[in-house]
Amino acid sequence: MDFEVDKGIQGAIQMVRERGRTEMRPIGLEADRLGRPIPVDDPYFARVIERGEGRTRWRRPSGKKKKEKKGGPRRSRVTVMSILMAEELAYWDRGVMVANPGVGLPEASVIAAGTDEQKERFLGPFLEPDRPRWACFAITEPGCGSDVAAIQTTARKDGDHWVLNGAKCFIGGASRSDWILVQATLDRSKGREAHRSFFVEQGTPGLGDFRIEKKMGLKAYESTSFTLRDCRVPAANLLGGEKRKEKSGGFKTTMQTFNAGRPIVAANCVGMGRAALDEALAFAREHDLLGDTRVRDRLELAARKLKMARLLCLRAGWLADEQRPNIVEASMSKAIAAQVGLDATSLGMELIGIVGARGDHLIEKLYRDIKALDMVEGTGQIQRIIMGRKLVDLPR
Ligand SMILES: Cc1cc2nc3c(=O)[nH]c(=O)nc-3n(C[C@H](O)[C@H](O)[C@H](O)COP(=O)(O)OP(=O)(O)OC[C@H]3O[C@@H](n4cnc5c(N)ncnc54)[C@H](O)[C@@H]3O)c2cc1C
Repeated sequence: MDFEVDKGIQGAIQMVRERGRTEMRPIGLEADRLGRPIPVDDPYFARVIERGEGRTRWRRPSGKKKKEKKGGPRRSRVTVMSILMAEELAYWDRGVMVANPGVGLPEASVIAAGTDEQKERFLGPFLEPDRPRWACFAITEPGCGSDVAAIQTTARKDGDHWVLNGAKCFIGGASRSDWILVQATLDRSKGREAHRSFFVEQGTPGLGDFRIEKKMGLKAYESTSFTLRDCRVPAANLLGGEKRKEKSGGFKTTMQTFNAGRPIVAANCVGMGRAALDEALAFAREHDLLGDTRVRDRLELAARKLKMARLLCLRAGWLADEQRPNIVEASMSKAIAAQVGLDATSLGMELIGIVGARGDHLIEKLYRDIKALDMVEGTGQIQRIIMGRKLVDLPR
């Protein structure tokens, strides 16, 4: 594994650093103070689009045959780069990072499993967006979170349409998304084998009852519940199309999305932990606490654990880029980074004492923000279940 970060990535990180300091952190702090997501028409989003962000990484097939490089094709480093960027973005504000326009979580599934027509119809508008656009992935339901296989939202074929019924909750950006990739079951008695994903476009009759959830942190982006009541979507909106061969349908694709996404969320935790540690160091310096060996020892331990977590993220990402299995490494990075990130913010809270209790210090915000990261894309317990089963070779 090569630890060299090339000049292009270094430049991109530097740019995030500048924008993070001048834009993301102040906007995130404001959203937290006001207790509401950044509004859709906020000039910040328009600026993001103007400077060429909020776009899909999918490209239209050019028809030209790619030239084979000497010594075979070079492996992409897209996951490793995403991990490094995710750490830096979350350092400045993880809520703003998720609030930013773009395809977000469903992008990997659509690229991997979508038909050419679906990629054109659903990703095409994100190539050169005329305005801030969002999309989202809806799996979680009021009665079903960790046990993804137990979803209750149903899909029934009716002529050349699918009819969806159910309820989803805590879905990032649902009310502002152009389309939502909804996970539903064709038959509740058949478990994961019957899972499929459907594109539900905003404005489709039957999609509604949007309600923005109240959250303890990450307030810059909306987490939204909604219902599907006899919601009819064209047959062509089934991810992968009717002819898709994959036996376990949407479930397998969802799990692949998580294996790619977990190291990214883990890197977010490293970034947030690092931000808390920097703030804690600044506070300790300002209040003459650094002469105390016990304080230095605790700060150093937190810094060491964050570095260890970063290496696990990079290893999981590197395996993904090498197209090698990374289930265990992805889960390990997430299980460890969420904990050490939380530990770093917790240490920060202890050091600043009563200042944190007032509720207007950045460490206090990070402490509330980071808690949710142990839940998203599989809680700590779920990661440990995955790793334990793999360790003793149990089937999934
Ligand atoms: C800020 C935020 C954003 C989110 N965004 C999205 C989104 O965009 N799209 C989406 O679909 N979902 C989203 N979610 C939902 C998230 O994926 C779920 O919260 C998560 O899957 C956990 O589900 P749950 O909260 O229902 O907890 P439960 O599954 O009810 O679990 C409760 C507790 O029991 C533990 N537990 C569960 N099963 C076991 C077991 N077998 N053994 C041991 N312990 C167990 C869990 O670890 C947890 O501590 C979001 C959640 C949050 C907080």
